[in-house]
Amino acid sequence: MKAVRIYGQEDVRVEDVAIADPKPNQVQIKVKDCGICGSDLHAYSAAWGLPTQPHPLTGKTVPITLGHEFSGEVVKVGSAVTDFKVGDGIAVEPLIACGKCANCRSGNYNFCDKVVAEDGAGNFLGFSDDGGMAEYANIDDVFAHHLPEGLDYELGAICEPTSVSFEGIKRSGLRVGQNVAVLGAGPIGLTTAILARIAGAPRVYISDVSDVRLDKARELGFTDVLNPTKEDVNAIIRKDCPDGVDVSFECGGVQATFDTALQVTRRNGTVQLVALSKPLNVNFTDDVIMQGFTITTTLAYENCFDTVLGIIAANQDQFKPLVTKKLGLDDAIEGIKALATDKSQVKVMIDPEL
Ligand SMILES: [Zn+2]
Ligand SMILES: [Zn+2]
Repeated sequence: MKAVRIYGQEDVRVEDVAIADPKPNQVQIKVKDCGICGSDLHAYSAAWGLPTQPHPLTGKTVPITLGHEFSGEVVKVGSAVTDFKVGDGIAVEPLIACGKCANCRSGNYNFCDKVVAEDGAGNFLGFSDDGGMAEYANIDDVFAHHLPEGLDYELGAICEPTSVSFEGIKRSGLRVGQNVAVLGAGPIGLTTAILARIAGAPRVYISDVSDVRLDKARELGFTDVLNPTKEDVNAIIRKDCPDGVDVSFECGGVQATFDTALQVTRRNGTVQLVALSKPLNVNFTDDVIMQGFTITTTLAYENCFDTVLGIIAANQDQFKPLVTKKLGLDDAIEGIKALATDKSQVKVMIDPEL
């Protein structure tokens, strides 16, 4: 089968590889859609997250098949699988976890103790084990999730990045009626904003330096859309929310979006870090402690895929515009590189049938 394999920095190849039969606890899927993610670009441009020595759980080293935001149709079922049959549509939760350590057993398998690799390789399919940019993939049954009735494969693949945002909202403790600022309007910022609106935030401010991205936010129905290179985001927010917003979501991963998050949040409010950021400068005493901020963090997600699939299924018109382009496997490398330059794309999907 055809697969998009990463060997290291700026070395991605579309190759013909064999796929084994699924293990007893696995299903084999024909991949239908697989989103390209900013972290795929990091892997491509800086070999980020890739195992250079055998991964502690998967035993794999590069080359690895990329892709962690995917959905597909079950074509083979392992002998011990009871919940899936050939023809079922599934979304893949692409985490790798041992299932046995204290974090796994307490439900926090996104912090599995056994996947802390010395080389920084992570606990995701598409980085530390073969992922979804291929014609077929084998998936552990515990990480396969039935697509709800009426939800297509594209939106099934959107479940993964949306789950990142869902986990951020959950960990922020956002409650209905609280106002929100989302700093950074990439795919994670936009899904965070959509979920905050669904969760009952009366005002959802979205800030980004790219007008193209802000146009997308407008297309999604957001009106409080701000460009910090052209206007004073803090002043505008405080016109309607004099104390600041209750919860800010840092989805940009840079100093400027972090600083803005601190500025626009009300005293005793919450600053939720959703993006992985570069090292940040922060004066904790003046800018955090004296403000009474709660700073919360999030990494991947746990036990939420079925909930998120349900949310997407019930609000399809809000999520559908996020898919902006579809490419075949042969064009995956161009698609990954384009993430760095083409801000008009929100979610580019690889469709192996194209
Ligand atoms: Zn991703
Ligand atoms: Zn574990």
